[in-house]
Amino acid sequence: MPTAADDPTLLLTQELIRRPSVSPEDQGCLQVIAGRLEAVGFHIERMPFGPVENLWARHGTQRPLLCFAGHTDVVPTGPREEWATDPFQPVVRDGVLYGRGAADMKSGLAAMITATERFVTNHPHHKGTIAFLLTSDEEGPSVDGTRRVMEVLEARNEKIDYCVVGEPSSTDTLGDIIKIGRRGSLSGKLTVHGVQGHVAYPHLADNPVHAVAPALAELAARTWDKGNEFFQPTTFQISNIIAGTGAPNVVPGELKLRFNIRFSTEQTVEKLQQTIAEILNRHKVNYTLEWFVSGLPFFTAPGELSKAVVQAIQEKVRRAPQLSTTGGTSDGRFIAPTGAQVVELGVINASIHKVNENVRVDDVVALSGMYERVMELMLAR
Ligand SMILES: [Zn+2]
Repeated sequence: MPTAADDPTLLLTQELIRRPSVSPEDQGCLQVIAGRLEAVGFHIERMPFGPVENLWARHGTQRPLLCFAGHTDVVPTGPREEWATDPFQPVVRDGVLYGRGAADMKSGLAAMITATERFVTNHPHHKGTIAFLLTSDEEGPSVDGTRRVMEVLEARNEKIDYCVVGEPSSTDTLGDIIKIGRRGSLSGKLTVHGVQGHVAYPHLADNPVHAVAPALAELAARTWDKGNEFFQPTTFQISNIIAGTGAPNVVPGELKLRFNIRFSTEQTVEKLQQTIAEILNRHKVNYTLEWFVSGLPFFTAPGELSKAVVQAIQEKVRRAPQLSTTGGTSDGRFIAPTGAQVVELGVINASIHKVNENVRVDDVVALSGMYERVMELMLAR
């Protein structure tokens, strides 16, 4: 099936890519989107916080509320000379669209918009509410984006019942994987205190590298849990370690180390913190430890929304998707805790955050059809 170069979803994706919205910049993307939604009867609210642009838009006043969520920001291009074409000048070659944000996730945004335009035109008196929650800070610190908008909505008692996140969830073919949750992410900044000295007089020093090494070996080898039906096992990774003065004859006085834990619903933050403290204490490490929780694990048990998404995919590509919780965290972590069912469905993620980021044009068009079908299944009368 040939795809026309003037397909509305392709054109809108290209228009958004031309705006170099490197996080937390929005570069007018939300203005373009607001204009499109307003034209089909949406009520638009802009919610800027600090440098971050956010948009909350709704069509309807009743529940259930079905929300599309996503972000306009993109990660930096990396070395421009490694790109075959200008990352902010979208180019279609052999049925593939290239540009920063092509997959993560300007094509997803465009697909939501065009799907919604068709749906509200065909079903002006649909059930419930269709909403959009969009931000320009998903790739950055994610403090003034979805998290803040959710706080405003919670304070107003405005509830999201179903949320489709347009993040690129697919792996090999469009719709082969949808995400129904994500692992949690817990980071630690460990400082091991020792006593600096001459390597020839170790009894006058206290080497923090030696002190922490057995504990690290245990942490690195540990089986934290076996995961469960929907989650991979919890993993621990050291991301940085530094000690020493640079001189070969000096015992360092201090060691600094960073680690990250991606954890399943078998764990809690408190349980992980206790386990790590227990191991460090048992090895008599003298340390201080700072924690940072970047996301709790979330999970949507298979229900109405995932059923509709699976059916929409099956109808469009004749394949059943796998329901997964793998990959990094997403803004779904701010939406799911309010009780919303959250499902992520988007294009293939093989090229995201890389040079020559790209998406198949046919997939962009098909994704719009899937989103439209989800609205029909959930909200058509
Ligand atoms: Zn993304």
